Amino acid sequence: MDSRGSPLAKGATRAWVGLGANLGQPQTALRQAVHALAALPGTQVLRTSSLYRSAPVDALGPDYLNAVAEIATTLSPHALLAALQTIEQAAGRERPYRNAPRTLDLDLLLYGTQHIATPDLTVPHPRMFERAFVLRPLAELAPQHVPAQALQAVQGQAMARCQGAGWADGFRVSGGKIGKKWLYRPSNKRK
Ligand code: ATP
Ligand code: CA
Ligand code: CA
Repeated sequence: MDSRGSPLAKGATRAWVGLGANLGQPQTALRQAVHALAALPGTQVLRTSSLYRSAPVDALGPDYLNAVAEIATTLSPHALLAALQTIEQAAGRERPYRNAPRTLDLDLLLYGTQHIATPDLTVPHPRMFERAFVLRPLAELAPQHVPAQALQAVQGQAMARCQGAGWADGFRVSGGKIGKKWLYRPSNKRK
């Protein structure tokens, strides 16, 4: 998915969301998450990174699929976080313990150039610079935000690029208007 040249909608901020999953059907979950991001009010998905496979860090369990989506949104950072958590819930996310395997994880990596430090939201994401599975896909989309030294520091972490940016195609990318209703429904509720 690529709409690199499009101007941002009025009042929109460019933001980058990290996607990860290692339970259930990870690729389907990530594609549905891209679709759900595109359906958020005032939000467009501009581009997606390649799809990567990585081993769990500080945890056991199946390998992860990871990617990053670049969005333009008029949602505030906290409204966006709440929306990400709603999408995770719809995908069956559970948090039995820290770093547990998950059906879907959506992290707000960067919101424009803002620095945010509140009890429930820290941006840039506080651990993104420790993680190759975040930095490598993010560097595809926003190299200006990923210093070469940061990439070098994580180059020992094993991961594989398994598909190009087209992995998320097939889902409509829509520029939701403010006030537009929540379009995404978890698949088990679809009629
Ligand atoms: P990590 O944060 O190390 O990637 P995780 O993704 O498994 O771990 P979660 O259980 O998904 O952690 O989230 C824990 C809390 O992190 C959330 O309740 C949320 O309030 C908080 N949080 C703080 N900053 C962010 C951010 N930038 N993006 C997403 N969640 C954040
Ligand atoms: Ca995470
Ligand atoms: Ca998270």
